Amino acid sequence: MNHRLIALTAAICVATLTACSISGPRKAIPPPQLSMDKIAEGYVRQVLALGELDPNYVDAYYGPARWREQEKLEKRSPLAIRNLNARLVKDIETAPVDPTVPPELWELRKRFLRNQLGAVEARARMLEGWQPSFDDESLALYDISAPFYGREDFKPMLDTLDRLLPPGDGSVSDRYNRYLQQFAIPADRIEPVMRAAIEAARASTLKFFKLPEGERFELSLVRDKPWSAYNWYQGQYVSRIEINTDQPLTVARAIELASHEGYPGHHVYNVLLEDQLVNGRGWKEFTVYPLNSPQSFIAEGTADFGVTLAFPAAERVALERQLFELAGLDPLEVDTYDAVIQAATLAGPATLEAARRYRDGQLNADETVEWLQQYALATPERARQRLKFFDQYGAYIINYSHGKTVIKDYVDRNAGPDEPLWSRWRVLFDLLSQPRTPQALLPES
Ligand SMILES: [Zn+2]
Repeated sequence: MNHRLIALTAAICVATLTACSISGPRKAIPPPQLSMDKIAEGYVRQVLALGELDPNYVDAYYGPARWREQEKLEKRSPLAIRNLNARLVKDIETAPVDPTVPPELWELRKRFLRNQLGAVEARARMLEGWQPSFDDESLALYDISAPFYGREDFKPMLDTLDRLLPPGDGSVSDRYNRYLQQFAIPADRIEPVMRAAIEAARASTLKFFKLPEGERFELSLVRDKPWSAYNWYQGQYVSRIEINTDQPLTVARAIELASHEGYPGHHVYNVLLEDQLVNGRGWKEFTVYPLNSPQSFIAEGTADFGVTLAFPAAERVALERQLFELAGLDPLEVDTYDAVIQAATLAGPATLEAARRYRDGQLNADETVEWLQQYALATPERARQRLKFFDQYGAYIINYSHGKTVIKDYVDRNAGPDEPLWSRWRVLFDLLSQPRTPQALLPES
C-alpha cells in the first residue's frame, strides 16, 4: 500500500517536472509510462486538490483518506493542477491495455478519464478567473451544451394548463400555483410520505435490478439550501438523502425526488459504480465524484429520466392516490392533479433558459424571476431560490432537463420506444454501471 503510494507520488513529481521543463532550458526527462490505475489515482488527486480550492467541487469521496489528507497539506494552485492535468491526459494514450477488461469497456474507461480530466482543466481555469459564457461553460464542464428555447416554445404547455386548471384571476402560472397550494403535504406528513415514496421507488427498481447486499439510505429534512434535495453518497452502498422543506412539497414532487435522489437515481448510480467498477474492477476513479464534470450530466439525466421507468402512468397514478391518503389529502382529486402535473413537466427547459439568459447578462435578477414565474411556473419564492442556485452552480442546470432529454432519446434508440419495460431498464442499467460520457450518447457519435 505504502509502496504503491510512494511510486505514484514519484510519478507525479516526474510528470510535473517534465511539464515545467518543456518551456525551460533544462532537457526534458521522459516520464515513465503510467498504468491506467496510476492515471486514475492521479485524476482522483486532481479532483481532491481542486476540492481544496472550491468547497462545492467534491460531491462524494470514499477512496483512501490519505490521498485527501496529502492534497489538503499540499494545497496545489490551479496552475499546478493544470500542468499535471495535461500530463495525465497524454498518459492515457500510452497506458498499457489491461487484457482482462473487454475492449469496449476499456475504451469507455479511457474516454471517461479523458473527459473528466478535461473538466478539471476547465474548472481550474475558472478558478484562475476565466469567465466563460453559459454555453461555453456547459461544454467545458459537462461535455455538452443545451439547445436554445424561446418564449414561444412554452406556449403549448401554457395553453394545455389553461384548459386543465380551474378558471381564475392572474396568469396561468398564478392559477397553477394556487391550484397546487391545496395539495401541499402538511409539514408533519412530509417524512412518512417521502419514506413511502422512496420505498415504492426501491421496490419498483428491485423488480428489474439486483442491488448489492446492505445498500440503504438515510433520510433527513433540512432548510435554507439553494437546492430542493441532495444525495450525499457515503460509500459502502449508503446514501444520505436530504430534502429541503423551504418550499411546499407536493405528492408528485415527492415521487420525483424519491426516484431522482434514490431509486433508480443517484443512490442506485453510486451503488452500481461502487459495486461494478470500484469493487468489481478496482477502478479508483469512481471513488470520487466531482460535481462540475460530465459525470453530473449522466447522473442528473438518468435520475430525472428514471422516474418514468420506475412509475409508468398507471403505477404513478396509483402511487399518487396512496400518498394522497397518507398525506391526508382527498384521493378523488388525483386524476386532474396528475394531468396538470404531467402538462407542467414541459416547463423544465424554461428553467435552463432562464439560467442561460441570467448568466449571460440578457436578463437581470428581477427579469429572471419574472421569466421563471411566467414560463417555469415558479412561485416568487421558488424563483428566488432558483436564482441562488444559478449564482452558486452556474451552467449546472443543463444537466437536468437536457440530461433527461438526451438519456430518454438514448434509451429509446437502444431499447426502442415500444420495447417492453425490461429492455429499457437494461439500457438504463448499463448507463448507470459503466463509464459513460455525454457526447457519446448523442446519435451522431
Ligand atoms: Zn440530482
